[in-house]
Amino acid sequence: MRRERGRALLARGSRAIHDGRYRKAASALEQAVRAYETADGSSHPELAAPLTQLALAYRHLGRFVDAGMAYQRALHILQAAGEGESVEAADVFHNLGALEYAAGNWLRGEPYAREAVRIRTRLLGRDHPAVASDLAALAALLQKQQKLAEAERLSTRALAVLEREYGPEHHLVAVALTHLAGVRHQRGAKAEAERLCRRALEIEEAQLGPTHPKIASTLDALAAVLRDSRRADEADVLLRRATRLLVREVGPRHPHVAACLYNHASVLKKLGQKDAAARLIRKATRIRSTVDAMNDEGVAVTGTINPLYANYRLSAKRSDIHRLGVFAEDAIPKGRKVIEYTGERITAKESGRRWNPKRSYLFELTTRVHLDGAIGGSGAEYINHSCDPNLKTRIVRKHILYYSVKDIAPGDELTVDYHYDHDTDRMPCHCGAPTCRGTLNLPPPEKKRKSRT
Ligand SMILES: [Zn+2]
Repeated sequence: MRRERGRALLARGSRAIHDGRYRKAASALEQAVRAYETADGSSHPELAAPLTQLALAYRHLGRFVDAGMAYQRALHILQAAGEGESVEAADVFHNLGALEYAAGNWLRGEPYAREAVRIRTRLLGRDHPAVASDLAALAALLQKQQKLAEAERLSTRALAVLEREYGPEHHLVAVALTHLAGVRHQRGAKAEAERLCRRALEIEEAQLGPTHPKIASTLDALAAVLRDSRRADEADVLLRRATRLLVREVGPRHPHVAACLYNHASVLKKLGQKDAAARLIRKATRIRSTVDAMNDEGVAVTGTINPLYANYRLSAKRSDIHRLGVFAEDAIPKGRKVIEYTGERITAKESGRRWNPKRSYLFELTTRVHLDGAIGGSGAEYINHSCDPNLKTRIVRKHILYYSVKDIAPGDELTVDYHYDHDTDRMPCHCGAPTCRGTLNLPPPEKKRKSRT
């Protein structure tokens, strides 16, 4: 009975996502998850499907941390059931990549997207349409990082497979068209980019209806092409429509609304409307500052742990120490490698520019090379500081590795001593350890710095 109710709610929620009714979807899918839990317990592999759909609804609503946690839970359930290499696991990785894309974190999304391609290609063969969708999503992340040659190759291949499989009028074809348009635009082929965007828009309006919030991203892409083709007046009209669609469905505080307003401001500047542009920038900046855990580079936190860098099952959750923390799902004996700290490699100078004691995840690898875990992080950047930590850092061949210095029980929060310099911004400590020194900073002569939120 419960199971049937769960399935009915899952179907209703999935349909609502397709229709762009994300709030309705989230509520149905939250109930679906509860119904599945009541029927089969909290670790049954069937729970992965409603959790994945719920995460998708959260992602569309801009609730990125909630989405990350739901995906992570789905992945752990699948791995525990021996289904870590299944189509369902590939779906989770695909969606993790898409989540980072939505959060503006292209580098962090790339390994997730690649993992989806790897698993699904092995299971279904390289010409399967689901693999093509994975490739289109990967291509989008590559395009944003200016890796244009690979992005173009992958999105062209994806588009050919999707058109052959679903016909040229399918909404998945439209997604691939918009991504390819992005690559063509960046390569200077503006006329072709415009043609691809218009075709995508036509398909989406016909298949999803003219008020579907998904159309906003296509309008946004087309507007960017028109702005750069000296047709800012046309771009202006499109961006007004895009903002309206987004606000109606996901609310005025969604990070994508902010992105849309920034683009719109750049269009208004070209039209000579400087005051109106400044107004939109102020509005967009206000939205960004109210989005939980968005950093100064405009990247939102998703709270996911990349299992490719972790040697044990770990989860990011809300922590008593500070905001998000990382928790062990398995027992971890003393002296084991637990996770690698990764991030964008940047210069010390750039690191200084990004340094913000409240919002940074910077790690000094050498005096010249720093890593920014906020961009391209494995999830190790969410590990909180403690003055009596259960992890320590080892740098092995330019890799930052966290090793356990105690036996860690399932459910324990992982901690490391941040060793902030004595002369950097003094940060108070609330770790709760009996030996707490009251600050994240080290007393004078030590030489080391690591910084983060
Ligand atoms: Zn402390």
